[in-house]
Amino acid sequence: KRAFYIGRFQPFHKGHYSVIKTIGKDIDELVIGVGSAQRSHETPNPFTAGERIMMIRHSLADTDIKHYAVPIDDIQQNAVWVSYVTARTPPFDIVYSNNPLILELFEEAGIETKQPPMYHRDKYSGTLIREKMIAGEDWEQFVPEAVTEVIEEIDGVRRLKNVSGSDQ
Ligand code: ATP
Ligand code: MG
Repeated sequence: KRAFYIGRFQPFHKGHYSVIKTIGKDIDELVIGVGSAQRSHETPNPFTAGERIMMIRHSLADTDIKHYAVPIDDIQQNAVWVSYVTARTPPFDIVYSNNPLILELFEEAGIETKQPPMYHRDKYSGTLIREKMIAGEDWEQFVPEAVTEVIEEIDGVRRLKNVSGSDQ
């Protein structure tokens, strides 16, 4: 059984990691959609798709989950989004998501969906982690160690602080 899970992963954090470990118990392979793939260098989306793929690959290296990370650019047409996704990904049988729009679109297309349990959503959220990076607060505890290494390699915190600044 092959499953699909999608997020923006700005950055990939311990909430994502934990959900993927849980999903991994029920499936053979996981297709991970890296959403808003065309976006980078902006406050809500500081990291490129390639950088996010690195975060995912290095984080999941300590699991035995076979996965394919596939970049998915945004399209402005929800009605054809499922075909757009399935045309770019290995075939999958089931979708794991908590996003109501994603669940609605896949269900309408007749694809099985499941809602994975949240993992300390109050603590593990991309928005919160980016805010901490900008504020110069501790963020490393919220992401897998491998993600800290990737962000250090690309000097990601400096980038985020820069692009979140104003020109005034
Ligand atoms: P942002 O605040 O930037 O939206 P996020 O933490 O919501 O970041 P996304 O990349 O938007 O991360 O999330 C991808 C998917 O992972 C979403 O469907 C979201 O519901 C889920 N997710 C995010 N955080 C957690 C968590 N702590 N536990 C379980 N699922 C989570
Ligand atoms: Mg989100």
